[in-house]
Amino acid sequence: MEGRNKKIVILGAGESGVGAAVLGHKTGWNVFVSDFGKIKPSFQEELQQLGVEWEQEQHTEEKILAADLVIKSPGIPDKAPIIKKLKEKGTKIISEIEFAGYYTNAKMICITGSNGKTTTTMLTYHTFKKAGLNVGLAGNIGRSLAKQVAEENHEYYILELSSFQLDDMFEFKADVAILLNITPDHLDRYDYQMQNYVNSKFRITQNQTSADYFIYNADDPVITEEISRRKLSVNLVPFSIKTEQPQGAYLEEEQLIINIKEQFTMSIHDLALKGKHNAQNSLASGLASRIVDIRKETIRESFSDFVNVEHRLEFVAKVHGIEFINDSKATNVNSTWFALESMDKPTVWIVGGVDKGNNYDELLDLVKAKVKAIICLGTENQKIIDSFKGVVETIVEAKSAVEAVGFGYRLAKKDEAVLLSPACASFDLFENYEDRGNQFKAAVRSL
Ligand code: ADP
Repeated sequence: MEGRNKKIVILGAGESGVGAAVLGHKTGWNVFVSDFGKIKPSFQEELQQLGVEWEQEQHTEEKILAADLVIKSPGIPDKAPIIKKLKEKGTKIISEIEFAGYYTNAKMICITGSNGKTTTTMLTYHTFKKAGLNVGLAGNIGRSLAKQVAEENHEYYILELSSFQLDDMFEFKADVAILLNITPDHLDRYDYQMQNYVNSKFRITQNQTSADYFIYNADDPVITEEISRRKLSVNLVPFSIKTEQPQGAYLEEEQLIINIKEQFTMSIHDLALKGKHNAQNSLASGLASRIVDIRKETIRESFSDFVNVEHRLEFVAKVHGIEFINDSKATNVNSTWFALESMDKPTVWIVGGVDKGNNYDELLDLVKAKVKAIICLGTENQKIIDSFKGVVETIVEAKSAVEAVGFGYRLAKKDEAVLLSPACASFDLFENYEDRGNQFKAAVRSL
C-alpha cells in the first residue's frame, strides 16, 4: 500500500496506535495521531521522537475527517461520534493488525474465541520459540504487530485476536486460524444479537483458501452450526474432548491425540496445563504446531514445561493445607464453569463484581457438587445470593480482597481449596482483573 503524501489518522494512542504510527511513518504516510483520553507519557515521548503530529484529550474533527485512511484502536466503539462521522463520509477504517498485514508476508497463526485466547496464544508462542522459529507475539498481547513489522523481521506471528480487532479486518488472512469457542460475551457491542458476535468471530476465516487451515472446536454447537451454514474452502481441522477426530485432534483415555500429518500422542498427565478447558487449548495449539511441522519432541517438551500466564487458574499458595487459586481473569460464566469443573476438592468459591448479564443457572450442578461456601466479592451481590441460596448453606459478603481471603481461610479446612473465579468484571472494587488477582495473591501471602 502506497502511503506517499497520503493522510493516515490513528485514533487511540496505546500500544497498537503508537505501533501503527511507527509503521505509517516508515512507509511514507502523513501521520496524525489523536486520542480522546490522556496518552501515557512513554507513548507521548515515542510519538515526539518519531516526529509525527499528535493530540490528546480531544479529537480535532477537521483533521480527522481529512484522512485517506483511519486506523482505530479496538477499544473505540462504532457508536463513538467521531467514528459515526467518518462512516457517514465513507472513510476506510481498519485495525492496526489489518494495516500491518499490508506490509508483511509473514505466516500468521491467529487465535480467537470467547475464552482461552491468551493461554492458547502463549502456549503456541512458547512452542514455536522452542522450535527455534523466528516468531513474534502480537495482537491483544505483547507488542504491536505494526511496530514489529516496521522494526523486526519475523517469519511467523502468533496473534491473539479479539472480536473487536476482527471487526476492522478486511483483506488480512490467517494462514492458520484457531477458533476456540463462542459463548455470549460483549453483546452490548453487537446490538445484543448473538449472530453479530458469531459473524465477528468467523471473520478469522475470511480470505482463507485451500492452502490454509481452520482449527475449530467441534464440541461447540454454535461453531459447528455456523460452519455448516457457510461454504468454507479452507482445510477444516476439528478438535474435540468428546469424540474421535480422524483428521484433527482429540482426547482418548487420558491421551491427547493429534492426527495431522503423522500422529502425535501425549498423556494429559504430562501436560503443564490442567483442566478440560486447557486440554482444548492444548489440542488446538498442538494442531497449529504440527501444521507448521514442529517436531513432536519439541511439542512434548513445550507442553510439559509451559508456565501459564498469571491470573488463569493460577496456584497461589498452600496455607495450613488450604490451597488458594487465583482465576481472576474469569470474567464470564463460561470461564468460571471450567474453573469449578477442574476443582477436585471441596471449594470455597469467591465470586462477584460487575455482572455483564450472567445466567448463573449454568453453574448450579457444579456448585452443588463442589462448592461448600460462597464469598461474594462485589458491591452488588443480590443476584448471586438469590441464585445460590437454596444450594449452598454459607454465603457471605466481602468488600475487599483481604476480607474475602480472611473469610476463605476461616471457611475452608485442610485439604480444601479457596478459588477466586469471579465470573464478573472487576471495576466496582478494583482497577481491573490484574489488580483484583494481585490483591488476592497479596492477601493470601500475608495470611
Ligand atoms: P482470553 O484471552 O480469551 O480471555 P484466557 O486464556 O485469558 O482467555 O483465559 C480466561 C479465562 O478463561 C480464565 O479464567 C481461564 O482459566 C479460562 N479459560 C481458559 N481457556 C478456556 C477455554 N478453552 N474455555 C473456557 N474457559 C477457558
